[in-house]
Amino acid sequence: IHKMAKSTFEYVKTFEINDALLPNTWIVIRIDGKCFHKFAEDHNFSKPNDLRALKLMNYSAFTVFKEFDDLLLAFGQSDEYSFVFKKHSTLYKRRASKLLTTVNSKFSSSYVFYWNKYFGDQELKYPPTFDGRVILYPSEENLVDYMKWRQADVHINNLYNTAFWNLVLQGKLTPSQAEKRLCGTVSADKNEILFKEFNINYNNEPAIFRRGTLLIRKTTANEKLGKTTKVIVDIHDDMLKDKFWKEHSVVLLDKCPKHSLLYEGPITE
Ligand code: ATP
Ligand code: ATP
Ligand code: MG
Ligand code: MG
Ligand code: MG
Ligand code: MG
Ligand code: MG
Repeated sequence: IHKMAKSTFEYVKTFEINDALLPNTWIVIRIDGKCFHKFAEDHNFSKPNDLRALKLMNYSAFTVFKEFDDLLLAFGQSDEYSFVFKKHSTLYKRRASKLLTTVNSKFSSSYVFYWNKYFGDQELKYPPTFDGRVILYPSEENLVDYMKWRQADVHINNLYNTAFWNLVLQGKLTPSQAEKRLCGTVSADKNEILFKEFNINYNNEPAIFRRGTLLIRKTTANEKLGKTTKVIVDIHDDMLKDKFWKEHSVVLLDKCPKHSLLYEGPITE
């Protein structure tokens, strides 16, 4: 009778949607903290950059990265992280919801699990939330432009925020005066304000603040073991320069195994 009952109800499974992603495309998953301007305030993040928070984001991303060999790259800044899967990845049969929820869940729980590693005794006041999305890129050019877009975003935000908070904290302007002061200024103007008024050379600000963090796998010689091993490294290079992509083109290489079948059998589990 148990078996019959099971097959009577099982038709509901056919309501599930096949959300397998287009083959042969890079899968990008970007997660972003929900209301983190508030979360940052509630947890006394220093302005404009809290290094502990950035390190916690990086460590949570590292935890995700080391779990999935199919991850090529991860790039983080502020409260967001992008994860890029190899174009030929067949992880979870490329099912969008499986990929997105597993990455987001591992990241979110790591953020909470490792909170004290970076914030010490400071209490985590409530569980943070991250949203997430999946984007497919069909060409290397599109993918590289995506990475450049996210890094340009760090640059623009960080330059603005660095100028803004110096005007407020050092320059004793009110927030609205600082905002007015920066309204309509271009990058060169903000660099000049920082240099002339606060003796800050923006280029000497920490690279992690100016450029965000890129996680990649590197093959290194392990002298102790006498062989090469793969390690995950965090770098803060300038991805807007083509020189970077020449040096790191290997990270985009992803040879398809000859006889890999993308969709073997029905997409259920
Ligand atoms: P949404 O839910 O729409 O994403 P949000 O408040 O999270 O809203 P974002 O555009 O994602 O808006 O911006 C994230 C905000 O989180 C930043 O503007 C900043 O106030 C704060 N923040 C994130 N990381 C840091 C950090 N390392 N140091 C200081 N502040 C941070
Ligand atoms: P998958 O990653 O495919 O979901 P899984 O190991 O989580 O693999 P499930 O079919 O989801 O497989 O089954 C969950 C398993 O977790 C159960 O079979 C059981 O072994 C264990 N489990 C979950 N909740 C409990 C619980 N409350 N008490 C004891 N065991 C549990
Ligand atoms: Mg958002
Ligand atoms: Mg956010
Ligand atoms: Mg954000
Ligand atoms: Mg399970
Ligand atoms: Mg289950």
